[in-house]
Formats: sequence, C-alpha cells, structure tokens
Amino acid sequence: MVGWVDAAKPTINEALTIRVGFRTINPPYKDVQMTAAAIKTVQSACPLDCPDACTLDVTVENGRVTTITGNRINPVTDGYICRKVRHFPELMYGPDRLLHPMIRTGPKGENEFRRATWDEALEVIADRFAVIRRDHGGEAILPMCYGGSNGYLTQDSMDARFFRRLGASRVNRTLCAAPTTRAVRGLYGPMPGVAIPDYALAKCIVLWGVNPAASGIHLAPFIKVARSNGAKLIVVDPVRTPFASQADVHLQVKPGTDVVVALAMIHWLFEHKKADLDFLNSTRNASTNSNAERRRGRSFVRPKLRGSAPMI
Ligand code: SF4
Repeated sequence: MVGWVDAAKPTINEALTIRVGFRTINPPYKDVQMTAAAIKTVQSACPLDCPDACTLDVTVENGRVTTITGNRINPVTDGYICRKVRHFPELMYGPDRLLHPMIRTGPKGENEFRRATWDEALEVIADRFAVIRRDHGGEAILPMCYGGSNGYLTQDSMDARFFRRLGASRVNRTLCAAPTTRAVRGLYGPMPGVAIPDYALAKCIVLWGVNPAASGIHLAPFIKVARSNGAKLIVVDPVRTPFASQADVHLQVKPGTDVVVALAMIHWLFEHKKADLDFLNSTRNASTNSNAERRRGRSFVRPKLRGSAPMI
C-alpha cells in the first residue's frame, strides 16, 4: 500500500518518499506541501483489454497517482482488482520505468545500453527499415504488438497506415485471441460467451486448464456462489489448483492428453443420448464439428479409456 514515511523530523525528500509495494520511490519534484485538499479520488476504468473491465478508484495526491483500487460501480469488480493494476503507481514512477530511448551497445542479453535522443533512435529505426526494404522487400518487416494497454491511437489506426505504406507483412495482431476465437466459433458457432454473473446460476461448472483463482479473480466469487447453491465442480488440469483441491472431480491428466478426455466425453454424451441435439443443431458449426469429433472420439474410447487409463 502507499503511505508517507513517518519520521519525527523528516527532510523534505524524506517527507516526499513514497512506499509502493516493496519499493521506495522518490518523486521527482520538491517543496510540495501535502494538504488534505491536494488529495482526491477520481473514478476511472482499467485500460487493459481484460474482460473483467474493472472500474477503479484512483487516489491522486498533488497530481501524482498514489493508489489504485477497485470500486463497486461495476458489480463484477466488487471493490477489488488484480495485483497487476494495483501496482500501476509503481509502474508509473518506479526506478525501472523506461523514460528515454536506449541503444544496445553490447551483445544481446548482456544488458549494455546507452541513452539516446528520440531523434537518434528514430534515425536508427528508419535506416534499418530502409535497408530491409531495399534488400528484402517490405514484407520482411513484421509488426508485432497486441491489445494489452493500447488505445485508439496506437492500434489499428496510425500504426496500420504506417505499416501499410511500408508494405510490411500483414498479421492479425490478436495473436493469442484469434486462434481461441476461431476455435470457439468452430465449436459453438455464433453463440456468445457466458456473462460472468451467469456462472452463479450454473448447475455444473467445468474448469478445463484454467485457474480462476490466479487469472480470473472476478470469476472466482461467482463459482463459489454456484457451489454454495449445489453446483458440481469438475476441474481438468495437471496442476492441483485451489479450485482443483475443492472440486467434486479433479481429472489430473498428464499435460497434452486432455484432448483424449474431450473426445471421450463427446463420444460418451452421444452414446448415452445425453448430447443436447436441439442445442447443437441450432448452431450449425457445432453440430457438424461434434459429429466429426464423435467419430474421432470413438477410436479413443474403446481401446484406451476402457482398459487402463494411460492419460491420467
Ligand atoms: S482484473 Fe486487473 S487487468 Fe482485469 S480489468 Fe480488473 S484491474 Fe484490469
């Protein structure tokens, strides 16, 4: 947490020393009189592209952000946020923050850099681009970035125009989300995802290779509500995560073998007439794929699952 260093007779620098997390940060300004009037809390929203979309209370003291916490405007945020964003003040004012362009002066990995001006850095990049285009063509340049903390100005706007003019390779920047979206669409068709509050109404929740206690902190309370209402919890994960420890069933598969479990489950559901055909038929892609997966699953179920269980 953030707070002022408590000393009997602090110097001005000591008085302006902020403790953030485990680090001590010295603000760059001096001679500031801290008064209650100089402290205010403003409401904001998390700028990252996380689906939790948290609403934030940001405390600003004399123009400096000192604390960031979740507020309760968004019921999913419910007053708390992840460590990553809670420590943003450290990111903004920390000694490791990169404030100037740096040019590498030694071998890669040796951490040898010298400070450069913006003009020099831009010259270096422009010269490299020019040489690459001349020798190999523009497509030898691959723009690589994704949403993260980008805003309207830095993703798919000016950068898109710039790289198009360069003739750079075109890549769908959503390197992690695009394959997942493709897989979900292939499986469920146009069906939208599940809203976080709806998890509380579920009768059975399957956490498959996911650890909400660490990477879905606002989903975790809804799972707990569903559990307290009697929902079953099944976890498929090689790791004994916090939810795996309390699950009704924890399938601790070996890494990379869970596809066999998935195929076997699909096959079993069809074989025992438990598959919801009306639902599947309402999403054309899903029913087509499920039939194909069912056929694939059959080959796994008989020889492998009904004998020893080699994947678990
Ligand atoms: S969980 Fe963290 S990253 Fe996600 S929206 Fe909330 S504060 Fe942002």
